[in-house]
Amino acid sequence: MAGLTVVSGPSGVGKSTLIQRLRQTRPDVWVSVSATTREPRAGEVDGEHYHFVTPEAFEQMREAGEFLEYANFAGNWYATPRRAVEEHLAAGTPVVLEIDLEGARQVRTHMPQAQLVFLAPPSWESLVARLSGRGTEAPEIVDRRLQAARTEMAAQGEFDVTMVNDSLDDAVARLVSLMGLPEASSA
Ligand code: 5GP
Repeated sequence: MAGLTVVSGPSGVGKSTLIQRLRQTRPDVWVSVSATTREPRAGEVDGEHYHFVTPEAFEQMREAGEFLEYANFAGNWYATPRRAVEEHLAAGTPVVLEIDLEGARQVRTHMPQAQLVFLAPPSWESLVARLSGRGTEAPEIVDRRLQAARTEMAAQGEFDVTMVNDSLDDAVARLVSLMGLPEASSA
């Protein structure tokens, strides 16, 4: 049966790349687009990578109960719009959320049937190298994200499964198999 899968893991572990590859190869899966108050990075498209919103708009949506979960991560707000997730699940489409630890905990509380997957780096050093090397964030932001990463790594026991992100294709195949989907998309 189609269901809800949450992918979490420290910033820099490669969640976005994994999810992007899943999107490309599995049109039968729907990936939620989060709302965020963070500034777009170069190349990020509104409505595709995120819904980029002002803090005021975010607060209004939160008060109106539009979010399935929300969290502050390294100084910015992030949330999963509830309605689209519920509609896709009701239509029998498998749904994936790529969210932080706080968000994953909220989903666990509200939707205990969701499968929680933790994406771990091959080593702590590889995570530090990736986060510092990608050049998309200022050094103090990298530090905040590394602090958050320590907390996230310590919480991996709360997840149903840990997957080490050593090879992109393997990780996508393992995720697809965890979701109970057939190996090749019929789409
Ligand atoms: P980034 O700024 O690097 O795109 O994302 C920062 C963190 O926020 C990542 O851990 C990402 O998974 C998480 N995130 C993205 N969207 C959401 C969301 O809708 N809810 C929550 N709780 N976290 C999110």
